[in-house]
Amino acid sequence: MLSIFKKAEPLIEQTVFPYGNIDYPLMYKPNPRAKRLSLRFSTKELFFVLTIPPRTSKSQIQLFLKRCVPWAEKQVSQVSTRLKIVPGTEVKLNGKTYRCVTDPLRKKPALCNETQTMRLPSRLTQKGLHDFLKKKAADYFTPLIEEIASRMGQRIEKVSYRDTKSRWGSCSARKTISLNWRLILAPPEVAHYVCVHEAAHLTHMNHSKDFWNLVEDHCPRHKVLRKWLKTNGTSLLSI
Ligand SMILES: [Zn+2]
Repeated sequence: MLSIFKKAEPLIEQTVFPYGNIDYPLMYKPNPRAKRLSLRFSTKELFFVLTIPPRTSKSQIQLFLKRCVPWAEKQVSQVSTRLKIVPGTEVKLNGKTYRCVTDPLRKKPALCNETQTMRLPSRLTQKGLHDFLKKKAADYFTPLIEEIASRMGQRIEKVSYRDTKSRWGSCSARKTISLNWRLILAPPEVAHYVCVHEAAHLTHMNHSKDFWNLVEDHCPRHKVLRKWLKTNGTSLLSI
């Protein structure tokens, strides 16, 4: 028998589940007190953990994992509708398509424009993903909305990014604007409309005719784009 781990070691990362049609990371967790191999799936963090007892051979592990494939695929099928950013899928950020790949060297997600990939760490938590998308949203939208505001003759005090399920943006009397970072997942024209809408509130703190005239000046297709948000907006909340 060939023991692949001498002592209890911290989680050893593996890129993806090696068998079946499963694009989720698998962690090896040697445990000196474990009596047998066991596999669990973390629905919160979306990876598999394989607990390995002492003196387990590689071929035993392979055999066990192969046997677990139907169970593992079932676990994955239950989350795949909820979370779309996983290795192997394509995601559009601000209209640009990126293919998601696992990059075990990374601690945080990153975009590679050269290869048009979104590189995900083996252990990607939902919070890690959300923090990353929030930062990207700020990179794209803060300069955009500041420019729109200045064309309207206004200045924004602060732009913040939230994850509210109920609104895409808001504007306060103190000239602070809050945007939903999930707009990064929407077509750029839609996100642009939301920026125009909130920037227009710097001048008109209401939805009066003057307000809509100002929106129309800066975003002539606003009616179509509002409709897009009403029809498709909830799909952006599923990640
Ligand atoms: Zn409004």
